[in-house]
Amino acid sequence: MTAGRSKKMCPFCEQKVTYIDYKNTKLLIRFISQYGRIIPKYYTGVCLGHQKMLSRAVKTARQMALIAYTR
Ligand SMILES: [Zn+2]
Repeated sequence: MTAGRSKKMCPFCEQKVTYIDYKNTKLLIRFISQYGRIIPKYYTGVCLGHQKMLSRAVKTARQMALIAYTR
């Protein structure tokens, strides 16, 4: 039960996020590079579960044209 203590905490787990809203573009863009790609989780510290949620939200946001693919 003491494993993974030194690792960076997932920011979504920290805030007990259970759902990432695709309309929350302010949040989403923080996890997208300037090229419109999702920043790898080893860089942001996001866990696998939340990374999946995040990529789904980003995908939907793109489909809804809330965020651009590239500039
Ligand atoms: Zn998490």
